[in-house]
Parts: sequence; C-alpha cells; structure tokens
Amino acid sequence: MVEPLPHVREIPPYVPGKPPTAQPGLTTYKLSSNENPYPPLAGVLATTEQAVAAMNRYPDMGCAALYDALATKLGVGTDQLAAGTGSVALIYHLLTAYCGPGDEVVHAWRSFEAYPIAVTASGATGVRVPVTADGRHDLAAMADAITARTRVVLLCTPNNPTGPALGHAEVATFVAGVPEDVLVVIDEAYLEFVRMADPVDGPALLRAHPNVVLLRTFSKAYGLAGLRVGYAVASADVAGALRAVALPFGVSSVAQAAAVASLASEDELFARVESLVAERDRLVAGITAAGWWVPEPQGNFVWFDLGERTAELAAAAGEAGIAVRPFAGEGVRVSVGEPEATDRLVELLGRLAPPA
Ligand code: PMP
Repeated sequence: MVEPLPHVREIPPYVPGKPPTAQPGLTTYKLSSNENPYPPLAGVLATTEQAVAAMNRYPDMGCAALYDALATKLGVGTDQLAAGTGSVALIYHLLTAYCGPGDEVVHAWRSFEAYPIAVTASGATGVRVPVTADGRHDLAAMADAITARTRVVLLCTPNNPTGPALGHAEVATFVAGVPEDVLVVIDEAYLEFVRMADPVDGPALLRAHPNVVLLRTFSKAYGLAGLRVGYAVASADVAGALRAVALPFGVSSVAQAAAVASLASEDELFARVESLVAERDRLVAGITAAGWWVPEPQGNFVWFDLGERTAELAAAAGEAGIAVRPFAGEGVRVSVGEPEATDRLVELLGRLAPPA
C-alpha cells in the first residue's frame, strides 16, 4: 500500500454545518454555517450568467478586474492582493509558502476549525492558546507562546465560533511586539458585521508592519459562499508568494465576475448587513431576556458555551426546525438568520433551563 506522509493521517476532519431536517408543516432554517440568508442580488446574478455563458474559456489567472476593484476600495497596490478559492484557500497558501516541519503556528482555540487542519497539512505544529472565559483572544498569552520556531500567528477577529472581535489598539500593541520575520495573519472573514468603538484598521496595520496579512472573503457579508472567493491583502512580497503557491486558475470566472459585481453593489449588500446586525441585536436581547448569556457577538453568529449540554440544545433546536452547529462537549454556534428563526430560537431558550 502507498502511504501518505505521516502527518496527513493526523489532519483533523472538517465538520461542515448540516442542513435542517425536513419536518412536515414546519419551515426550517439553516443557521449552521454562518451563511448570509439573503438570496443573490439580481444584478450580480445577471453578471454571473454572462460569465457562465463563456465557461468554455479559462478564467483570468491574474484576476485583473477583481484586483483593480479591490485596490481602489482598499487603497493598496494590485500587487498587494492575492485571491483564492475562498479565504480558507489563502490560509493553505500562507502555510504552504511560509511553514514546514519544525515550524510553529500560534493561534487561539477554540477558533476557526480550518486552522488546525491547514497547519497539520502544511507539516507545521499548531500551538493553541485558549480563549478567555468570555470567548476573547488572550493576546498576552499568545505573545508568550511565540518562540524562535514560530513562523505565523493567526488572529481571528471576530473569532469564529465564540464571537468577540479584537480592538485596534490591542492588536497594534501585539503586532509591534512580534518579530518582523513572523507573519501576523488577521482573519477578518466577518469584518463587515463589526460594530465597536475601536475596530481593527487592517490596512493601517499593514502600512506600519509588512509582516501583517489580512484575510477577507466574499462568503459572508457579500453572500457568495457557494462561489468560493476570498483574498489576502499583504505586502507585495507576501502577496507574490501567495500567488506563486496558489493552484493555477483557482478562482473561477463566475466567482471573479460575481465578486467584481458585488463590489459595485456594496450599497445594497451593506444595507442587508445592517439588517443582519439589527437582527443580531434582537437575537441577543431575546437570549438575555430568556436568562441565557452569550459572549459579545461581532460576527453574524452567537456562541453558547454549554459543555456537556451542547447536544441538548442542538437537538432541541433541530426539533424546532433550526439547524445549528454543535461543537461536541464545548458549545453551540448559531448563525444570525431570518427573523422567524430568531423568534423560534428565543422561544425555545425560554423553555430550557439556562446554564447555572
Ligand atoms: N475564516 C473564518 C474565521 C471563517 O469562519 C471562515 C468560514 N467559515 C473562513 C475564514 C473561510 O471562508 P471562505 O473560505 O468561505 O472564504
């Protein structure tokens, strides 16, 4: 038998959010994957249909239209951008380009479940720094975890699945203390949902520190999860390395067209984000009124830290027609979705005893 490299057997599985189970007479809701509940904008759909009509051709490998639009939006050079098949691909590209056996990658835990998968796949060693009891990154402990072997630090803000976001001042202080030959990757998948006094200004950090990398995605606020397009903003050197290791033609022509059309439709899309933020506030108010607690959510999801009661809440939500994302023995993540789903979830929480 031909064996894969030993570390391949160590790669933990990715557990995707499941769809709801159909129930007669009951509208069901999928709140298990932090998706945008709104359907595509008609204009974006029309643009993608044109791209579909030309699907016999390869996509533009240089993503020229996408990089032009992003460079204008962000005030960076087109050479500072690298697109990929979702921002999860950029995590792989980063670790492929910068890490190998013997290297360490520091990240918070619990955080995005793709981190240990991508770190292990790269052959490097993950160093997990526990989040605080209120679901926040422990930046002091993360700074202490950096050793001579550390090549990359991953910050996730807002943190999936716990919810809180980091502030600019604390990240600026953290980055200033990280050696210049260590990359600080700031995963901002849920950036557009953040409403706080001092949000991270990623481009400003990058201007001051060329070892900063920002990861962003069209999957959440822009509602293009099914098309798979995300990007990194970095120094030209780092962006060049990310492009070098990327799969050729990794971002499809349809995804590129939809992303460019979405950037041109930010007014409409961000009005939807505003509605989701209002729905998040309504959900938190309902959760609190029912006697439950969640860490401050800054993304489009909330986190119930439930330990052994995780399966109980997940099962009760499933019976109520709502698919949530349980993390066995740890907690339940619930995406912000349709108002009817919020009402049903809050009603359900009112019937269950909150954790002591
Ligand atoms: N980062 C975080 C924190 C996420 O939660 C996700 C998606 N769940 C991603 C990155 C990846 O998103 P995508 O690959 O769809 O861009």
